[in-house]
Amino acid sequence: MKCYNHNGIDAIGICKSCGKGLCQECVVEIEGSLSCKNKCEETVRNLAILLKRNMKLVGTSEKISKISGKFYITTGIISVFIGLFVIGLHQIFSDFSGIFLVLGIIFVVLGFFAFSAGFAILKESKK
Ligand SMILES: [Zn+2]
Ligand SMILES: [Zn+2]
Repeated sequence: MKCYNHNGIDAIGICKSCGKGLCQECVVEIEGSLSCKNKCEETVRNLAILLKRNMKLVGTSEKISKISGKFYITTGIISVFIGLFVIGLHQIFSDFSGIFLVLGIIFVVLGFFAFSAGFAILKESKK
């Protein structure tokens, strides 16, 4: 490919905005992208800024889902432990009604659901 402006010179890059071949003399680098000198610079700069902003957004949502995934898992583990503890109380104070047992089972089940939900979120965010 030859330079769009200089027919005899080989192009070293392609403008990100208009796709024309550019030689060393015609090319300018903006935010890691190539552009025609004095022609497409503004467009390429805007494109690069847009791209960067999008990448940042993706990174943030990944971080949020990772945090919420970990939060669910932690909550799940804690409530399973609370449930087991309450069930243990039921074993010790067997005079009490079955309320401890019921409460304990509810905690364990809820904890298990939170744990698996958190795991699913973490798995999803790794894709
Ligand atoms: Zn251009
Ligand atoms: Zn040129």
